[in-house]
Amino acid sequence: MSSTLADARKRLNAAAQHVDCPDEVLARLEYPMETLAASIPVRRDDGSLTFFKGWRARHSDLLGPTKGGIRFHPSVTMDEVMTLSFWMTMKCAVADLPFGGGKGGVSVDTKDLSEMEVERLARGWVRAFSKMIGADRDIPAPDMYTGPMTMAWMTDELEILRGRKEPGAFTGKPVSLGGSKGRDTATGRGAYHTTRHLTKALGLPDEGATIALHGFGNAAQAYAKLATEDGMKIVAVSDSSGGVFNGDGLDIEAVIKAKEAEGSVSAHDGEEAIDGDALLRAEVDLLVPASIGGVIDEDVAKETDAAAILEIANGPVVSDADAILKERGIEVAPDILANGGGVIVSYFEWVQNRSGDVWSLDTVQERLEQRIVAACDAVLDRHEEAGSLREAAYVVALSRLSEAAQARGTCRQFGEC
Ligand code: GLU
Repeated sequence: MSSTLADARKRLNAAAQHVDCPDEVLARLEYPMETLAASIPVRRDDGSLTFFKGWRARHSDLLGPTKGGIRFHPSVTMDEVMTLSFWMTMKCAVADLPFGGGKGGVSVDTKDLSEMEVERLARGWVRAFSKMIGADRDIPAPDMYTGPMTMAWMTDELEILRGRKEPGAFTGKPVSLGGSKGRDTATGRGAYHTTRHLTKALGLPDEGATIALHGFGNAAQAYAKLATEDGMKIVAVSDSSGGVFNGDGLDIEAVIKAKEAEGSVSAHDGEEAIDGDALLRAEVDLLVPASIGGVIDEDVAKETDAAAILEIANGPVVSDADAILKERGIEVAPDILANGGGVIVSYFEWVQNRSGDVWSLDTVQERLEQRIVAACDAVLDRHEEAGSLREAAYVVALSRLSEAAQARGTCRQFGEC
């Protein structure tokens, strides 16, 4: 991923020009409040021992306990984890959640590990970082290559370590172990509501918008289903092994089935093939990057034929591409708004765990839509003044953070007491 903390800071500083934010608050947000690096030992099935590098960054707890996923991916670095924790601070602030931002990760290719080895790694991660974790301190969740099963192992390990139940310490758990209904499709559903609510701002047609999806994981699949049901046309989909294109709209259920059966959307027969690079440049109403960070660099920004972009992935557009897209009139619904559905339903899970209540799927989905619409409205209110949806989202987030910092007073925030 080419987005870095330095990259993220550029957007923060640009937003600061529109917000009455003391320099000290800005300086505090430039770097995580706390980051821990650890070497995690995992006993392999053959009896040998492998050490994996892992991290947890708590960026800011100004608005509440820190919140954010843990990713298991070979490209994870400490800088990436810190950057992602910064984005979580901004994302939670845009969604008006009582959370700060955190992120964790391990540099590992889980495809090289057996399921038992992945379980040992998940449990080892908790042993390494347990001091940071807790429902009132830092609440991890799934991210790339982690999921409900990972959260179940992690919750179990923390409960063993502490000798008591810790229901609100992780979110994204299986529903049978205190997870929330609707968490599995929340990111895609939130992105869908964002698309609908920002139709005008993104310049999309009211009906039949054409969409290209770069990446076809869980969030992208949920998004594709909802968008199709609503009459939008998913014309292109790709994953790391290839892609398919149909100008009249793909049969999304069939593409999902092909991916489930063969591991890639390219196994879906009877459509024109398209690779990821060509998809990023395709002529569509909306390009939706939903894979890794940094895929829309300056070159793609210059060459894409998409009329607008909506970020389901974290950080798919690098900051150096922002000005090019703006100049070309390509509006971007930013990640910190468009993929906030996941952490919003994580918040609902945390609320349910702490209250002992269990919400119906309808309640979860209704409240998710309300929160996404409120976040979109807050961003739209600052759109004209800020100049782009991304800058407007940063302005909304920074305003809320700045207000909280000033309400708290300088002493605790800056460690001067
Ligand atoms: N990993 C997700 C994200 O990047 C979800 C975080 C959460 O639910 O805490 O937004």
